[in-house]
Amino acid sequence: MKLTEIFQVYKDNIMPTYNKLPLVFVKGKGSKLWDINGKVYLDFFPGWGVGNLGHCHPKVMQGVRDQIGKLIFVPNNYYHPFQAKLAKELIYQSFPGKVFFANSGAEANEGAIKLARKSGEGRYEIITFENAFHGRTLAALAATGQKKYQNGFEPMPEGFKQVKFNDLAAVKQAISDKTVAIMLELVQGEGGINVADRDFVNFLRKICDERKLLLIIDEVQTGIGRTGKMFCYQNYGIVPDVMTLAKSLGGGLPIGVMIAKKEISDLLAPGMHATTFGGGPVICRAALGVLRAMQKEDILRNCRNMGEYLLEKLNLLKNAYPVIKEIRGMGLMFGIELSVEGKQVVDKCIERGLLINCTHDKVLRLMPALNITKKEIDQAVKILSGVLKECA
Ligand SMILES: *Cc1c(COP(=O)(O)O)cnc(C)c1O
Repeated sequence: MKLTEIFQVYKDNIMPTYNKLPLVFVKGKGSKLWDINGKVYLDFFPGWGVGNLGHCHPKVMQGVRDQIGKLIFVPNNYYHPFQAKLAKELIYQSFPGKVFFANSGAEANEGAIKLARKSGEGRYEIITFENAFHGRTLAALAATGQKKYQNGFEPMPEGFKQVKFNDLAAVKQAISDKTVAIMLELVQGEGGINVADRDFVNFLRKICDERKLLLIIDEVQTGIGRTGKMFCYQNYGIVPDVMTLAKSLGGGLPIGVMIAKKEISDLLAPGMHATTFGGGPVICRAALGVLRAMQKEDILRNCRNMGEYLLEKLNLLKNAYPVIKEIRGMGLMFGIELSVEGKQVVDKCIERGLLINCTHDKVLRLMPALNITKKEIDQAVKILSGVLKECA
């Protein structure tokens, strides 16, 4: 198909649910992407946090190729070895408990919401936060504290209360005898890269213990090394009761995971919750490849080192260009808040071969692969600097 034909077929045949850039990609390797014309891009935003290892990591590809040649589907009323291996590895790296395998972030969060309600014995209310993002299915959307995503789809499922992020008093006030859980991202991704305060998170852990609430941490975007630790909560010295994962765990293939601590991990008994494709053998091999690469290639250390390096460079840009108001982030997850709309910056960067994202209108989002190199960072910063100079 020719470029123009592809665009036309999309227009005629696919629901217009996404704002799309006029780029058609055909190949990827590490932090490089090739478009249909052969132009190479440096990808500093690989799929909303999917590409923690960049595109087509060899360890992921190898597992997937091998599995595809043998067996690609095992229904969940049978066993297969790779779901067992992946569950064991995830529990080993997080906290004692059990895993439920799903197919997306929203679905993992739906599972967490159902589990919380099941645990509540009549209590059902979940406290979430302004500017959160938990997904687009109805309950996840209700948990997502942003009206712009909910408009037109009301009524939202009941039982969610949004309060201000990092506001202890607001949380205290919101807790009632109906409250069963508090759910949050430790670094709000879609919401503009807002980092939870250490005191705030410690307070949440404490109040959840005191009031017998579940602390649900949505690590769909922050998980698998993005913030310099395997899971972001490990930066805070707390342990959640429930954690959800998705995006980067499958190395590019769809997976969602809910992990619940021991005490509540048998509440969803046979017949209470299910999903046909959850934890299939191909995706489990992919995820095992991701976890192996994380370890063998010392990805966490590279993430922390390159995170520091990139932050240094971004701070230099901030000193040079007053259009940058603030830089926020952790590990290799950065938001650059501008005093102007970010779209023009994104478009110009893309013209020059650098893929970045803008969220919340004015926040540029950089989330390069965790195995990014200094050279690639230098290249990206040079392009961004040139663009910001023109916008200043
Ligand atoms: C992307 C995201 C989700 C939703 O994940 P999907 O796989 O798109 O359903 C949920 N929570 C957070 C924090 C996310 O970034």
